Amino acid sequence: MNFKEKIRVIPDFPSPGIRFKDITTLLKDGPAFHAAIAEFTKFAEERKADLIAGPESRGFVLAAPMAFAMQKGFIPVRKPGKLPHETISVDYSLEYGKDSLEIHTDAIQPGQRVIIADDLLATGGTIGSTIQLVEKLGGIVVGVCFLTELTYLNGREKLQGYDVFSLIQY
Ligand code: 5GP
Repeated sequence: MNFKEKIRVIPDFPSPGIRFKDITTLLKDGPAFHAAIAEFTKFAEERKADLIAGPESRGFVLAAPMAFAMQKGFIPVRKPGKLPHETISVDYSLEYGKDSLEIHTDAIQPGQRVIIADDLLATGGTIGSTIQLVEKLGGIVVGVCFLTELTYLNGREKLQGYDVFSLIQY
């Protein structure tokens, strides 16, 4: 499967100079979506994952079908104020300003093996925060997987020591 040809690149979105990688063209292609989830599931099964976590919102689209296929639990990592029970949060910086992510404190038991999935690795801020949340709860991050990796932004440098897998590289 040539996954790269399934991604649509949109120039100047959401702002001038950015070449946005639109994954909706891959998602609407049934065999391509299935093949991508199958690759991620294989990665997660080899690492004996107990749980699959994904950051809001495109991470949900990948992590939830992986969890379903593996009959494992899915853990949502969300923007502030969305999760109804007790949470912990981590702040991270964006190009302009700050954002944060939250997880339920009872989402993960210490020692559980967690795979994190997201659509795209850019600077690594989003995934770095998600890793911190999982580890604060005592989870072991046994791998992180992405549909797309922007290698020129060196997000992998932030992920040294972690098992990183991406299907498509730019
Ligand atoms: P990072 O935190 O690694 O700098 O940025 C990655 C996050 O931003 C991901 O959660 C991803 O959803 C979003 N993102 C940034 N650029 C793009 C892009 O070109 N395409 C898509 N689909 N998501 C992007």
